[in-house]
Amino acid sequence: MKKIAVMTSGGDAPGMNAAVRAVVRTGLHNGYQVYGIYDGYEGLTNGDIRLLGRGDVGGIINRGGTILGSARFPEFKEKSVREKAIEQLKKIGIEGIVVIGGDGTYRGAQALTEMGINCIGLPGTIDNDISSTDYTIGFYTALQTIVDSIDKLRVTSMSHKRCSVVEVMGRHCGDLALYSGISAGSEYIITPETGFHKQLVLDKIKESHNVGRRHAIVVVTEHLLNVSEFSQEIEEFTKYETRATVLGHIQRGGDPVAFDRVLATEMGEYAVDLLKNGKGGRAVGLKGMDLVDYDINFALSKKREIPKKRYGLVGRLS
Ligand code: ADP
Repeated sequence: MKKIAVMTSGGDAPGMNAAVRAVVRTGLHNGYQVYGIYDGYEGLTNGDIRLLGRGDVGGIINRGGTILGSARFPEFKEKSVREKAIEQLKKIGIEGIVVIGGDGTYRGAQALTEMGINCIGLPGTIDNDISSTDYTIGFYTALQTIVDSIDKLRVTSMSHKRCSVVEVMGRHCGDLALYSGISAGSEYIITPETGFHKQLVLDKIKESHNVGRRHAIVVVTEHLLNVSEFSQEIEEFTKYETRATVLGHIQRGGDPVAFDRVLATEMGEYAVDLLKNGKGGRAVGLKGMDLVDYDINFALSKKREIPKKRYGLVGRLS
């Protein structure tokens, strides 16, 4: 009987559980034994690998996080550490793994494939920063969490005639700021793609204040600026009372929205089909309405397409 495994790695993302469930149940449907690897590449190296049955993945499709746990384990970049991991897999007879995570996770998957264990990568990250897919598993849930939060901030900032500066996640990708900025009707978004043109933002917010708008919302991708300091500058320049909010890890939590559950479930099945066909070193993605797969090296080197038209929307409508 063929043996395969599933694991989650890197930052957790809502919808990872739905993908784990789909991999396990598709595997069982095909007559395979399916193992769960706990705590990412760290658990793999230490042999924390357990056989999963149908019931072990029951009641998880609606739960955020990952029942398998996740870990950052930089040691996996070393060949000698990966050799230990391969030994653990060989001991059990596992021939292929579905790994769910971000680009770091993909690098580990490619390295393992080159060492003889077929790996298929599924894009699990809230940041939507994987260029080989239109959307990653977890992005829409995090987006909804952000929009719900900004809606709440808008209520209070309107009552008090305030400006809200909201920092969201995304690492080097502005999609969470862009999409939440559009959904929450923000005045301005600052992302790695737009760059930070301080005077332009200050002028725009001042204009809002001068024409008597009761509030203004600025959404900023993390790591670009200090939102507390910038809020003070806005307050001094525009006369809007201004508050900074860093949403932080709350963006990773929450039950996955339906889109992430469907995406994760379809991708989980697709990944097992690739393993069944003897494929390895592939990254699964969504292009338009269709699932596709690419060589992981290609997926990692592909340039992200920037949704330029969407960026223009925020400015035109604010
Ligand atoms: P993400 O997958 O969300 O991008 P990380 O960048 O932390 O998160 O990567 C997850 C894990 O993948 C790392 O902790 C490490 O175990 C493994 N990894 C990352 N880069 C490599 C690499 N170049 N070679 C082998 N394994 C890697």
